[in-house]
Order: sequence, then C-alpha cells, then structure tokens
Amino acid sequence: MSNSSLTLAQLEQKNAFTRRHIGPGEEEIQAMLATVGADSLDDLMAQTVPAAIQLDKPIEVGEGETEVDALAALKAVAGKNKINRSFIGMGYYDTHVPNVILRNVLENPGWYTAYTPYQPEIAQGRLEAILNFQQVTIDLTGLELASASLLDEATAAAEAMTLAKRVSKNKKSSLFFVADDVHPQTLDVVQTRAEMFGFGIVTGPAEQAADHDVFGALLQYPTSTGEVKDISAVIAAVQAKKGIVAVAADLMSLVMLKSPGELGADVALGSAQRFGVPMGYGGPHAAFFATRDSYKRSLPGRIIGVSKDTRGRPALRMALQTREQHIRREKANSNICTAQVLLANMASFYAVYHGPKGLKTIANRIHRFADILATGLKQKGVDLKHNTWFDTLTVLTDNKADVLENAYAKGMNLRADIDGAVGISLDETTNRKDIQALFDVLLGEGHGLSVETLDAEVTTQGSQSIPAELVRTSDILTHEVFNQYHSETEMLRYIKSLEDKDLALNHSMISLGSCTMKLNATAEMIPVTWAEFGQIHPFAPVDQAQGYQEMIGELSDWLINITGYDALSMQPNSGAQGEYAGLLAIQRYHESRGEGHRNVCLIPSSAHGTNPASAQMVSLKVVVVACDKNGNVDVEDFRKKAAEVGNNLACAMITYPSTHGVYEETIRELCDIVHEHGGQVYLDGANMNAQVGVTSPGFIGSDVSHLNLHKTFCIPHGGGGPGMGPIGVKSHLAPFLPNHKVVNVETAGDNCGAVSAAPWGSASILPISYMYIKMMGSAGLRKATEVAILNANYVAKSLEGHYPVLYKGRNGRVAHECIIDLRPLKEASGVTEMDIAKRLNDYGFHAPTMSFPVAGTLMIEPTESEAKYELDRFVEAMISIREEIGKVESGEWDATDNPLHNAPHTLADICDNDWNRSYDRQVAAYPVPSVARNKFWPSVNRIDDVYGDRNLMCSCPAIESYVEE
Ligand SMILES: *Cc1c(COP(=O)(O)O)cnc(C)c1O
Repeated sequence: MSNSSLTLAQLEQKNAFTRRHIGPGEEEIQAMLATVGADSLDDLMAQTVPAAIQLDKPIEVGEGETEVDALAALKAVAGKNKINRSFIGMGYYDTHVPNVILRNVLENPGWYTAYTPYQPEIAQGRLEAILNFQQVTIDLTGLELASASLLDEATAAAEAMTLAKRVSKNKKSSLFFVADDVHPQTLDVVQTRAEMFGFGIVTGPAEQAADHDVFGALLQYPTSTGEVKDISAVIAAVQAKKGIVAVAADLMSLVMLKSPGELGADVALGSAQRFGVPMGYGGPHAAFFATRDSYKRSLPGRIIGVSKDTRGRPALRMALQTREQHIRREKANSNICTAQVLLANMASFYAVYHGPKGLKTIANRIHRFADILATGLKQKGVDLKHNTWFDTLTVLTDNKADVLENAYAKGMNLRADIDGAVGISLDETTNRKDIQALFDVLLGEGHGLSVETLDAEVTTQGSQSIPAELVRTSDILTHEVFNQYHSETEMLRYIKSLEDKDLALNHSMISLGSCTMKLNATAEMIPVTWAEFGQIHPFAPVDQAQGYQEMIGELSDWLINITGYDALSMQPNSGAQGEYAGLLAIQRYHESRGEGHRNVCLIPSSAHGTNPASAQMVSLKVVVVACDKNGNVDVEDFRKKAAEVGNNLACAMITYPSTHGVYEETIRELCDIVHEHGGQVYLDGANMNAQVGVTSPGFIGSDVSHLNLHKTFCIPHGGGGPGMGPIGVKSHLAPFLPNHKVVNVETAGDNCGAVSAAPWGSASILPISYMYIKMMGSAGLRKATEVAILNANYVAKSLEGHYPVLYKGRNGRVAHECIIDLRPLKEASGVTEMDIAKRLNDYGFHAPTMSFPVAGTLMIEPTESEAKYELDRFVEAMISIREEIGKVESGEWDATDNPLHNAPHTLADICDNDWNRSYDRQVAAYPVPSVARNKFWPSVNRIDDVYGDRNLMCSCPAIESYVEE
C-alpha cells in the first residue's frame, strides 16, 4: 500500500512509539518466526503459554500515544505540582545539581543504562565512582569501612539495627533504643522492621540510651530538630553495656562537625541526597553506611574493593560478596540487591567537583545563614528550641497555623509536625531573599531586620552555635581525586574517562537473564529532570503535589489492571523491598485472623536469593522445595512439604515464569495447594516481562507480587540502582499495605508502619514507567511481551546446535529467557563459564547472567528491545566462542595459553612489545570482523577476586599505584 492511500490514523500509527521500543520490525519478526518455526506471534504464544493462564480479555491501559503527545500530557500533569521554597528539612534538602553532573551523568545513558558491576573488567568507571562515594563516606563519618549505598536513610537505620543485633555482645537483649529526636520516618521504618524480628523498641531522650538493657541504639546528629550536641558520653555509656551505637548523620553538617567516628560511634549512616541529588518527592537518593573494619562481614549491601588484575595493576570489584543474599540466602546480612548506585555516583561526583574547599564554603555559607536567621529572630524576642544548630532552627510559636499559612501564601514550606513550633532547614540554595522572606513570615513585615547588618554582627561576634568541642578539626577529602577536577573542563573529562571504561546499553545488548535490560527511552527519561518533579519535598502538603498524585494514581491504576490485582503500594523502592513489604502484608493478614502462628515460607530451590533473604526479615522459616529435571517446581515435593507444614504455612514465594525461563503448566495447582492449607501466594514479579498483556499474577491466582519497575517498566538500572518495587495485592491484603507516619497514604492500611523513608518511594522515577505505558498502550505492551518471547526463542533456536539449552517448556519453547548449559563443555575442555563470560567482552558484549539459577550456566534474556541484527551479532559471538572452545578441547590450542583463558584482552595486551602468546593479536581483539565496527576495550585484565577479599581495601588507592609498573 502506498503511503498516499493511508488515512491520517494509519499514517500516525506508522510512527508509533511501539516501533521504537520494539527492536525487530515486521519483516524481521517474520524472518525470526520462520527460524523458530511459528506461523505468527499468535501461533508462538499459543505454543508457549499454557492456555489455562492466558487472559480472557485484553489489558486496558489506553491506546499508545506518540512521544510528543505523551510528553505534552505529562507536562500538563507535572504543572499541577506547586514548587515552593522548601525549608522542611527532615533529611531532604534542596540542592544545586552541578550542571556538568546533571547532563553528563544523570541524563547520560552511558551512566544510567549500565548494570550492577558484576563484570568488573568492563565496569571500572562506575566502580571508581562508587569507591569515591565510599571514600566520601569514610572521610565524613570518620569510620573505617563504608558500603556502596543503601536505599534510603530510614532503611539504612533499620539495617544498622540488624547489624547491631549480629555483632553486639549483649546477646540476651532484644531491645533497641531509638532517640526521640531522630527523624520520624526513620523511627517508623525501624519500628516496622523491629516488630517482625521480635525486637522491642524503646524511645526516649538520647541521654537515656544507656538506662536500658539494649543491644544497640540509634541517635541522630544533628538531631531532627536541629540541635548539635555532644553524644560521645552517651555513646560510651551504651558501649560500656555492650550495646552498639549507630548515628544517623547529615552529610553536609559533617563537613563542619566532629565526625561520628571521632565521637565513638560504631555505625554512621544517612542520606547523601543533598550532595547534588534532587529531592524528587522522596527519591531516589543514596544512603551511606559506614562502620568499623571489624564488622566488615556484617555490613549490609555491597562494598567495592581494590584488587589487582592479571598484570598486577590495581583494579576494582565488588568485594566480600559471600555476605550477600545471592549467596547466603536466608542467612544473608540483608536482602539488598538493587541499591542506589547512580545516585551514589552523583553524590561522589558532587564531592569531586567541589572538593574539600568547595564543600567547606557551601557548608559554612549554609551555617552562616542559619546564624543570621537565629540572631535576627532572637533580637526580636522569638524563642528557639535549641541553642545550637548547623542548618536547622526549631522556632517556638503560639500561632503555628498562622505562621504556616503565611509561609504557604508566600510560596514557602516550613516543617509542620512539631507541637508548638515550626522547623526551618536551610540548604545550599538558600539566599538572602529567602532569609528576608523568612523574617517576614515569622515576624510580620516591617521588622526592620537586614541580612547584611546581621551578617556583620555574626562576623564580629563569631558563631557560637556549634559547640567548640564539636567543631571539626580533622581533614576531609584529602585524596587526589577530590582535589584535581575543579575546572569544568577537567570535571567533564574525568566523568567521560570513567564512562568510557564501562559497557552500557548504549554500546551493545546486555542480555542478563532475570534483569530485563530493555530500552530506557529518552522520552521516558526526560521528565525525570523536570523541576516540577525534582524540586518537591516528600513531606510537602499533598495539595502542592497534585501532579505527582495524579501521575501516581494513574500509574497505579494501570499497574493494577496489568497485574490483575485490586490495590497497589508505591512505597517499596526496590524489588527486594517489595518482597519484604508483601510478606509483611501476608503476616499482618494472618495475625488479623488470629493465625499469627503461621511461620513457614515455601521457596523453590530455583528462587532468587532475595526471596529467602526477605522471608528471613519477617521471621519466616524457609522450607526449600525441589525442582524437577525440566526446571519446574516439583509439584509432588511441593504438595508434600505444604502438607507437612500444614497449619503453619504462611506463604509460598514463586517466580513466574520460573527463573528457569519456562511457563510452568502447574502454576494454578501450586497456588491452590498453598490456599488449601490457608497460606498466601507471593508471586515474584521480576519476570513480568513475560506476562504483561498475556497473563497476570492476579489471574493466575496469586495474592501479592512486587513489580520491578526497573526491569519490566523501563526504569534504567543505573549501574546497580535506583529501582522501584511497588507491590500489587488482592483486596483482602489491601488493609495491610505500608503507610507512613508523616504523610498519610490514603490507599494504604490504617495502622501499618512504613517500609521506606518516603511515602511513595522513589517517586521521581515513576514518570519513566508512566511514559512507557502511555506510549505503548494496551496493544503495544502485549506485543512487547510477544516479541520478548520471540527474541528468546530465536536466540535459543540459533544456539541450540552449539550449546545445550537447559530447560524448555511445552512444544520445546522457552519463555522470555533461556539458559544454556556450559557444564558438559567445561568437563570436556576445561573452559569455564567465567572464561566464556570474559571472552564475550572481547567480542564487545556483556555476559549474560552467570551461574544463576543453575551453577555453570548462562541465562540469556534478550528483551523485546533488541533488533534481529543485534541478536545475530550475539549469536555469532557465541558460536565463534564455541568454535574456540572446540580448539581447546581438541588440543589445537593450549589449555591455558589461549584467548579464552586470557580474556578479556586490553589495549595494553595488544600493544605489548613482549606479546608472546600462541595465538595472534587479531584473534585476541578482533575475533570476528563485525567487532571492528565498534570495538570496546576492557580497561583491565581479569581481576583476582580472592586476592581482593584477602587484602580488603575499600578506600581510594593513591594515584601512584596506577602508574605503570
Ligand atoms: C531482580 C530480581 C529480584 C530483586 O529485585 P531488586 O530490585 O534487585 O531488589 C527478585 N527476584 C527476581 C527473580 C529478580 O530477578
């Protein structure tokens, strides 16, 4: 049909976003269908998805809109947010995102589309940026060891509590003390966490911490209401009774204040948000976490460490991974999987950009404004709650309501939740006009105060608002990296030099099974950095966040429709947090029915490590169910174990399609078995990419699921976070969804505590999923699922003559991912899955998921976004590698002097005048001609994991150590 005979609607349809999101065009789809042996996508679906679970009616999320229309519509929604000047504080502060970081990191796919650095040889850039984050944390907290980021301050505090329980020598106690001047949302999250562990929480003035027999205590420094007080005596007193003390601290204040480490704290934690990351209505932001070196094995989350590569050069990697959930499952330190890497990188770049001098200038300026404000108010007879402060004043007032109204009328938000007072927190963006306006609000106009006059007074008097003994004297950020890149040109090049070391989706396909590395479209990303979404405080009055509320409401409705559930919570800010929130809802539901004794969770052996780690967080006992040789949950074993557990069955956690990449025919039966015993079904929604528009958890018979919006719904992985893990539930669980003590969430349960610091989690990345659904529409989303399945089957079919495909479902089909078995090859040739993964780097690819869910395998998930061209390149690489393995197997190549064993190859290898390998350089670096088109050079050789863990070093090495030997 020629274009001239098409209607307007048909012409518009031709340029639909669906065509951009889905990799293969119609002709490619036909060619691939022919390869896999299906007549049409419908035919492929009929062959692959069990008929019993296919939806009987389409999902309803509207028609797909163009990028232009969808952006315009969302812009109008965003416009309903009212941007007030924020003085609320409570852990969230306005900040200037340095533009060089905004454009070259936050808005740059080289940074935001990368995955967690499990393949460190092609991830040295972000590993260095995270190591810098750890160094910032170590320097500012004064502790020895820092982690690579946690989800938010409140959950970091909860992690500190569990670390305290693990390491405290006061083994008999199950009481944890929380000072009454910590941020209320932190107390809320800690309380929720404690309840399920069976810990008691005692609160009271910080000074009374040691009056109780506790295994640990949490203090805030400066306090939530702004006081700067010496907590060293109370820390020592708690420690004298074998308690562990965690201090939630404000990163900016630590530039000027004596560090928690110097005050004796065992743990320091907090949010790095104000280091150049927008408030975003609650997130995403990176939490920092530091502790003593002796607690390194108890630290939650990831740590980046320095090791060396085969050339003996320093090289970075994730250290001590044996503490983590993917290895230790229910015995792991935490369930943290996705964290906040992109935001940690931003904060670390902020520190690199400003350096110690710049940060001191910023902190001093904030503090000076606080002094000026306080001095002026006191001159006018206004009472302040405290005599000390860094940036936060709590102003006592008899007419709080009027003051707040007055402030709102002038476009200003003050902290409103303190009896008889308002809170005012200043930040980097505060200026003279703000202070003048604050005087007007608090004193009424005509007060006669002048910022300039007060500034002069404070300068002559000297500031007395930080007690002399708490003034920081130790150096910060002395490492070269924080003292080198202060011109924008240098900064730009530093960021770019790190970016160039990393392989992200803007280079080639990343076929990580279970991770769904699909397109993160630019039109989806653009709204994230709109001021209307960035500059809203999470505790701003809800009437100022109508744009957010509308967007969240609409997105929730769509997700409810897509999942077949009745209600949804946006609070969990990662998939694993969703698991925790879902299990919490299940346990609260059982309790509400007088069945609180139910304490067992059935989990198939193929489950993701976060499942058992999350079950442990609600004190569930994990019973592992076997899988059969086809990768399916063994129904008989499942039935038997469920019967054995009987009345104690709380729930089962099942991933669907299974992590083995097949649609189990028996899923409905599994759900029925659980329900017959009075249990609930938690369906892990990480594999929703194989369900959207085709089937749904609610339809299958599950009670609750999390969605990984950073997998199925296009939020980029950010190099290891952010993510969002909202949970959908059936109506009977809706009353048990997490609420929030500071901001009531109308769709949540009445008396349910929070699981995250912010009421709607990492709200500012929700526009990404919103845009995706709006642009795809119902039909586009279903088609995405179909093509994801086609792509996986195409790869499986193309590889099956070369590598055994481990599990298949009905008609020999896989779902949206496939596992290839490398064990027979390893047996025959000695070539390991690690060799193959690293060799793929030489071909310009990131390795698929290695050894999960089965050791010695690769799990490939191409997603719908990869075109046939890219799939063919990947297949070509895999087949070429198979031929190389053949040469090792046959003895043509030496067992160790071969390109697989020595992979990956760096430019330094190829340029080495002493090149003396038995294969030539062309084979090493350009093994197939297509590599030349866009050669990617791994920046280091294979990294020694064992050395790195034995010689643990998690801070920045001196630059000299990088100089060539
Ligand atoms: C990714 C994943 C999770 C965990 O999600 P996070 O967002 O990383 O916490 C859980 N289960 C499965 C099957 C997954 O693939």
